[in-house]
Amino acid sequence: MYIVQIASECAPVIKAGGLGDVVYGLSRELEGRGNCVEIILPMYDCMRYDHIWGLHDAYKDLWVPWYGAAVHCSVYCGWVHGRLCFFIQPHSEDNFFNRGCYYGCDDDNMRFAFFSKAALEFLNQSNKRPDIIHCHDWQTGLIPVLLAEIYKYNGMEYQRACYTIHNFKHQGIGGEETLVATGLNRAAYYFQYDKLRDNFNPFALNYMKGGIVYANAVTTVSPNHAEEARYTEVGCGLGHTLHLHQDKFSGVLNGIDYDFWNPEVDRYIPNNYTYEDFEQKIYNKKALRERLLLDAADKPIIAYIGRLDNQKGVHLVHHAIYHALNKGAQFVLLGSATEAGINAHFRHEKEFLNSHPDVHLELGFNEELSHLIYAGADMIVVPSNYEPCGLTQMIGLKYGTVPIVRGVGGLVNTVFDRDYDQNLPPEKRNGYVFYQTDNYALESAMNRAIDLWHQSPDEFQQLAIQGMKYDYSWNIPGADYLKIYEWIRHPW
Ligand code: ADP
Repeated sequence: MYIVQIASECAPVIKAGGLGDVVYGLSRELEGRGNCVEIILPMYDCMRYDHIWGLHDAYKDLWVPWYGAAVHCSVYCGWVHGRLCFFIQPHSEDNFFNRGCYYGCDDDNMRFAFFSKAALEFLNQSNKRPDIIHCHDWQTGLIPVLLAEIYKYNGMEYQRACYTIHNFKHQGIGGEETLVATGLNRAAYYFQYDKLRDNFNPFALNYMKGGIVYANAVTTVSPNHAEEARYTEVGCGLGHTLHLHQDKFSGVLNGIDYDFWNPEVDRYIPNNYTYEDFEQKIYNKKALRERLLLDAADKPIIAYIGRLDNQKGVHLVHHAIYHALNKGAQFVLLGSATEAGINAHFRHEKEFLNSHPDVHLELGFNEELSHLIYAGADMIVVPSNYEPCGLTQMIGLKYGTVPIVRGVGGLVNTVFDRDYDQNLPPEKRNGYVFYQTDNYALESAMNRAIDLWHQSPDEFQQLAIQGMKYDYSWNIPGADYLKIYEWIRHPW
C-alpha cells in the first residue's frame, strides 16, 4: 500500500510531544511491513536539521492557491532516521513556519490551514496518488475536507483519508477567512451543523470536527479514550459528532518505537540492559545522580517527564515532588510549560529547591536527558487529568521504571495495579493506579510504591521486570492501522 502521513510533527526532527513519536514510529512499522510510506511536514526554521539526512529540493515551484491568488513554495526532501520526509517551505510575507516555534502563534489556525492546503496541492501537482492519506490532530483536520470537496474533483478521486485525534483539547478554530483562503468558500454550506460548524460557537468553524465528518476513518489513540471522548467531557464538545460518526470511529492504542526507546540499545544511556541483567540499571541511576548532582543515598528516584500543563495534572506533579521528599525518596522532573503562569510557578519552585540534595527540576525540552531519566529512575509518575494514550508510562515500563498513574484514558489500557487489579494475575501486573484527582489518592499510590521499594526490593524488582516484558511496540497497532486502511479502501 502507498501511505502518506501528513502531520505537524515527526520525531526526532520535529517533536513537541507524543504526536511526533507516533508519526515516526507508525511510519516505520508500516514500512517494515512492506508498505511505501512518505511523510509531509512543514519546514520550520527551528526543527532539528541535524536529524535529517540528504536534505535536497524535491519540487522547486509549488504554487499553492491561497485567497484566490497563489503562494510560491519549495518542497524539500530528506531522510529522518530512514523515513522519507517532504518539508513544505512557503515563500510569503506571512512567514508561516519561520517563527522560532512550532505552535503558539496567534495565526496558528491559518498557518496549518495553509499547510493542509499545500500538502494536498503538493500531492496533486507532483502526481502522487497514495492509497491512504493519514492525517493527525487539528492541524490537519482540514485535509479530509479539502480532499472530499476539492481535490476529489481534480484527480484525487481514489485517495482515502484516515484521521487520528491525539488530543481533543485543541481543535483548531477558524472562521470564514479559512474558507476563503483555502478555496472552500461557500460559508453557508460549511457553517451547517453537520459540516464544520463548531458545536458550541455557531460563528466558528472547527477543523477537528471537519476531519471527523469528512474522513473515511477516524481513530483516537487508545480504546479507553475512544469511549471517554464519546461519553464524557474529555471529548471537549465533540462527543455528539463522534456519536453520529461512530461506525467509522475507533481507538487504536499507540505503540512506542523499540529501536529508539529500548534500554538494550539506547545510545543515550551509559549502561544498556535488559530484564535479564536488570542489575545494570543501577549504573544508569548512578549516572543520573552524578549528572543532576543528587545525593548517592539509599533512596528511590521518582521521575516526571512531560509537558507541564493542566492536562498533565500539574497540581499533582507539584504535590508529588514534596510528597516524595517527605517519604524519603528523590525526585527528578523534566518538563516544559507553555503557559506563563505554570512556567513561573515551576521556575520559582526550581529556585526554591535548587540546593536540595534530593531533587532536581529541569525546565525545558531535552530528548537526550529524558532517556537517562527513564533508565535511571525507579518510578515514573503520570498523574494526568486526562491522557488520550500517554507514552511516558509505556516508555517507563520498557526501561523497568515502575509507573504510578491516574486511571484515565490510555493509562487504563497500559498500566495494571500491582495490588488491586482484579482482571490480571499478579505476575502480569506492572504498576500503580489511582483514580481521584486529590493529593491523598496520589499519595496512597506513591506510598505503596515507595514502601515496596524500601521493604521488599526483590518484589519491587520483580514488578519492574514484569513491566519490561510487556510488548507496547508498534507491532499490534501497526497491524490494526493496516486493517483500517484496507477497510476504507474496500469498504464493501
Ligand atoms: P503528550 O500529551 O505531550 O503527547 P505523551 O505522553 O503522549 O504526551 O508523549 C510525551 C513524549 O514527549 C514522550 O516521548 C516524552 O518522553 C517526551 N517529552 C515530554 N516532555 C519532554 C521534555 N521536557 N523533554 C524531553 N522529552 C519530553
